[in-house]
Amino acid sequence: MVRIILEFLSVMVVSCLVHGLSFAEGRLGVEFDFEGASVKVLEINEKEKRISFMPGGDPLRGWPCWWYFRVTGVLPGETITLKLKGSTSTVNKPGAPLSKPLASSWAMPAQATYSVDSAVWRHTDKGTREDEWMIYKVKPEAESFLIAWGPPYTPKIAGKFLSDISRKCPKAEATELCRSMENRAVPMLHVNEAGGMEKKRFGVWVQARQHAWESGSSWVAQGFAEWVASDHPDAMWLRKHAEIFIVPIMDVDNTATGNGGKEAFPHDHNRDWSRQPHWKETVAAQMMIEKLVKEDRMDVFLDLHNPGPGDPTFFFTLPDDQLGQQAKSFRDRFIAFAHSRISRMNPPFLMQDKPKAAGAGYTQRWQEMSANWVSMKGNPHTVGLCLETSWNTTSSTTDGYRGVGANLGASIKDFLHERFLKP
Ligand SMILES: [Zn+2]
Repeated sequence: MVRIILEFLSVMVVSCLVHGLSFAEGRLGVEFDFEGASVKVLEINEKEKRISFMPGGDPLRGWPCWWYFRVTGVLPGETITLKLKGSTSTVNKPGAPLSKPLASSWAMPAQATYSVDSAVWRHTDKGTREDEWMIYKVKPEAESFLIAWGPPYTPKIAGKFLSDISRKCPKAEATELCRSMENRAVPMLHVNEAGGMEKKRFGVWVQARQHAWESGSSWVAQGFAEWVASDHPDAMWLRKHAEIFIVPIMDVDNTATGNGGKEAFPHDHNRDWSRQPHWKETVAAQMMIEKLVKEDRMDVFLDLHNPGPGDPTFFFTLPDDQLGQQAKSFRDRFIAFAHSRISRMNPPFLMQDKPKAAGAGYTQRWQEMSANWVSMKGNPHTVGLCLETSWNTTSSTTDGYRGVGANLGASIKDFLHERFLKP
């Protein structure tokens, strides 16, 4: 009888949740009515202190592998069990890509990420697999906590971070790339310390999150921006010699609404770099990059991502047969600098020293990928790469990602400084 009542209560709780309601004190609950949140609650078991769930999200708006929500009603000393299953969503629309459910491994980090104060994000202990489930346990010592696939990074976080950094470093201006299709601001940092004083400034463009679920890539962009705005002599040199554009989130709409973004309908942001882009962010970025190309100073373009669950950190490049001699040798030089710094980080990020080619064998729309598009449209000296930073390791934390971003900044300086000395 007790069990029946509990099951009835669970059903009641879940049906309240679809309306985004919160719950009475002392009763385990879930909230997901905030920016970036995503979850489909399957059961809240009050007696076992267990929440069973799947990622939420509209599969037409990208792979349903991102999840992020708040657990409420936790009592002191309680351990909460979070039982995760892969999304069963598919897409029933001509031309849409997800005809069968996505492999659950994309949604199941070895360690989930949680926070009791929305500021410091920690890994949970390693989860355990039980058949189709991944089970995480959290003892938060707080009444409520946020839990997610990885450290969240939303448009509001990006906007606040960029305005804080621009107060600290006045030559770094917090601005907007454009407004999105759903009329959200797309925050951008523009560092132009050299101004019009020096004719030949290097052009550097770093963007993240063309795929909304890859939250780690925005933390890499943040680490890069923090380094650029810092007092480190290398950062000061780079600010003096380069005009720098940083966009921490390209797909703000899917990020804000907790959708995956990857393979969104009709195609995602990183398959959109054609003559007629679908997304407004792509239109705006292309215009600014084409201006840099025209001025012969599209020097370094980096598009930041997170790869597959078992992948190390690596670069994607345009295939060698599509690159000129100078572009190839500059690319290899830049990768050597980045590899020597990132692979020596502590704690380590396992990194491949050779890039992978993103050509026709990788995707049909290889020419519509941003780094490939920039490499093809760019100057003979343009380095255009996509960096995939591994997300499923103990180093894949906010600090780890920010460290990758800082090392990327130092590598850009190493590379451009060498070009500056030997023009
Ligand atoms: Zn991606």
